[in-house]
Amino acid sequence: MVDRDETISCRAGVDSDSAHGSVMPPLYLSANYSFADFNEKREYDYTRSGNPTRSTLADAIAKLEGGAGAVITSSGMSAVDLVLAQLPQDALVIATHDCYGGSWRLFEARARKGQIRIQYANLRDADAVGAALAQQPALLWIETPSNPLMRIADIASLAKRAKATGAKVAVDNTFLSPVLQKPIALGADYVVHSTTKYLNGHSDVVGGAVVAAAAADAEELRWWANCTGVTGAPFDSWLTLRGLRTLHVRLERQQATAARVAARLSELPSVAVVHYPGLETHPDHELAARQQSGFGAMLSFELAAGADIRTLTRNLRHFALAESLGGIESLIAHPATMTHAAMSPEARRAAGIGDNLLRVSVGLEHPDDLIADLELALSHAVARAR
Ligand SMILES: *Cc1c(COP(=O)(O)O)cnc(C)c1O
Repeated sequence: MVDRDETISCRAGVDSDSAHGSVMPPLYLSANYSFADFNEKREYDYTRSGNPTRSTLADAIAKLEGGAGAVITSSGMSAVDLVLAQLPQDALVIATHDCYGGSWRLFEARARKGQIRIQYANLRDADAVGAALAQQPALLWIETPSNPLMRIADIASLAKRAKATGAKVAVDNTFLSPVLQKPIALGADYVVHSTTKYLNGHSDVVGGAVVAAAAADAEELRWWANCTGVTGAPFDSWLTLRGLRTLHVRLERQQATAARVAARLSELPSVAVVHYPGLETHPDHELAARQQSGFGAMLSFELAAGADIRTLTRNLRHFALAESLGGIESLIAHPATMTHAAMSPEARRAAGIGDNLLRVSVGLEHPDDLIADLELALSHAVARAR
């Protein structure tokens, strides 16, 4: 019998300690493990290569994503780079044009060194995708929902087309987590996470994960992670495992609040547009409803011409002006100067990221408090602009 996701998260490593019967899995900080004798290596020998605490987390995330295996990395960026390390020299990567700014910077930097070739395409444009895939890329990089505009790419259709040309497919699933989206079931070969976000969920760890659909790919990932030393620290894995236990209940509540915040913001004249896939006005609403099992807890919005953006963010009490997302605390970010500052102004414009855009990560505060806070700060922003 296959356990459901809530049960996988809750039970991972529970009551598995043979030494003392500790109910919660112990934290193994040891860098090394003794050999029983010559040629008698135990399951673990050195923590860069393998660690029991990290393995418990990796197994849980692999199960949640429906993959054959996973590697826990030191950050989301080292997870992205670990996927790139699987490619042969000079391989062509096609990436979504509105990918995470840090991924964009890494693709660009690896391309400048001649290690990969990179091209971007609007993955919602079938012709652009066709032209990109005609060049026989080695890898298609999908991120959906996109950051910060919450555009949705059709994973199943893209994976099918990419595979027909021999490309592998990677999906960055950070924004939804396996609770709300299962890319491997839709045809992905790799799923990448910044576990910094929803999987840990408490904004006190930076970490990442790569899940592989195929056992051979999982083995290769493990080999490279050990070889280059990008595996995550045991304490970080222990904290992330603790966060993972409440992933479902956190996301359920956070996305219910996000839906309310999005609905309220779209009623206000000081807001020009709200980008939230749960709104029927969102251009990809139907695809999101079909592909995801929920609309998530991230949204963004653009201020109307008569509102001052600085006055808004300065007057918010419950939204810290900060990067990152997916924690229990609500955050607001200004993509043009923060998350997407590493992108060139041209690339930002092409991706539709204007100076009046704000991105919100909705936390676990009471929805009425968050809405009241936004309404009051917006009224200041309008008064200031007058
Ligand atoms: C944060 C993030 C990353 C990078 O993860 P780090 O843990 O910050 O290194 C990659 N992709 C997405 C979508 C992210 O939000």
